[in-house]
Amino acid sequence: MIWNPQYECQESGERRLLQLARLKNLVETLYSRVPFYKDRLDEAGVRPRDIKALSDIAKLPFTIKDDLRETYPYGLLACPESEIEEIHMSSGTTGVPVVDAYTRYDVECWEEAMARTLSGAGATRHDTVQNCYGYGLFTGGLGVHYGAKRIGANIIPMSSGNTQKQLMVMRDFGSTLLCSTPSYALFMAEEARETGFDFKSMKIKAGCFGAEPWSENMRHQIEVELGIDAYDIYGLTEITGPGVAFECECKDGMHVNEDLFYPEIIDSETGLPLPDGEKGELVFTTLVKEGTPLLRYRTRDVTFITRGTCGCGRTTAKMHRLFGRTDDMLIIRGVNVFPSQIEHALIEIEGTDPHYLIVVDRGSNHLDEVELMVEVKRELFTDETKSLESLKGKIESVMKSKLGIQLRVKLVEPKTIERSVGKAKRVIDRRSI
Ligand code: ADP
Ligand code: ZN
Repeated sequence: MIWNPQYECQESGERRLLQLARLKNLVETLYSRVPFYKDRLDEAGVRPRDIKALSDIAKLPFTIKDDLRETYPYGLLACPESEIEEIHMSSGTTGVPVVDAYTRYDVECWEEAMARTLSGAGATRHDTVQNCYGYGLFTGGLGVHYGAKRIGANIIPMSSGNTQKQLMVMRDFGSTLLCSTPSYALFMAEEARETGFDFKSMKIKAGCFGAEPWSENMRHQIEVELGIDAYDIYGLTEITGPGVAFECECKDGMHVNEDLFYPEIIDSETGLPLPDGEKGELVFTTLVKEGTPLLRYRTRDVTFITRGTCGCGRTTAKMHRLFGRTDDMLIIRGVNVFPSQIEHALIEIEGTDPHYLIVVDRGSNHLDEVELMVEVKRELFTDETKSLESLKGKIESVMKSKLGIQLRVKLVEPKTIERSVGKAKRVIDRRSI
């Protein structure tokens, strides 16, 4: 299901010409309308006329999250305030929220990007979309809403939480597409099991999951427990919200809406561009945004990019499932660890549930210590304690061999770890408190 073959299947040379024209236009606009960017470009010694090829993008300055915070609320506006018709803010997983301001045209582009995203998961106007992303300042709720409206589907604006009602609505209205965070999808499955809802007898056939890190194993678990196809979708408030990239039926990487958002991968230490296929920090330049366009925004998300024609027919670049965020990355006694690696290792271990919490602290000897709280299947608690002890030992040795770190495992009963209806909180780092 390809929503817009003209842009999604465009010949790559033609796309590059379009991107270049849009990039030139963007740099001119920012130089003449946004004092923040004029200063940055002057500092970098770059004028709009210096952009002659796409590779010249490397001459342009980066934008970082702190730039957005420091210019709060409207310091990066590139259009008259009267043209803004909607405001969103990031959920602030890592600090003070940042603002995205949309003109009518920006909202239309967002609708388009999300129509492509939902189509990637097979949605058409005949679908009923149950949207469990939070409505409000968070971009997830309205982003999915706009995309579903654009394709003409029936949209049920559930927002997050109230799981029993979610299940009832899903059953009674025959929802066919579920949109939520992956952790909430699993939570729904858990609630369904306990309260006698049978997912497999529902009409739901696919789900668009994103907004937080998840693993290939978690996809597998969602697909099995809910009896659906699970698709990875990616976006961030600063760039537009969801709709930046999405998976197709091939489920091996997310197609970037490249005519709208120009992706680069850089080495996060040196800031230098990395070639396709190499893992690094993802950077986006918004090519058509009017409200708050951004130059080379450093997402802090870690992935790599591949190009070519996909099995689905799309020609857009694909980004691999995220490996984590550079700022989420835990450095444990000098070893880099992403929470998603821990999750990945955990799901392969029989008897555990993918609900976990990583608590990092400094021990009495000032060395980093990690405690991994893991929920285990209820049956194990009624068993002899021997099996709990051996499971604990097994997890510790798997973590040691796969991640190279020694951690302490604490097995806890189901539902001990707080559930989230939005983004799951996986790490408590007490070293910085
Ligand atoms: P924040 O969480 O920074 O407050 P957002 O709500 O805009 O801001 O979330 C955007 C971030 O969520 C992304 O930068 C990325 O780290 C994470 N994210 C979004 N989609 C995915 C996904 N499919 N897989 C992993 N992480 C994702
Ligand atoms: Zn594809």
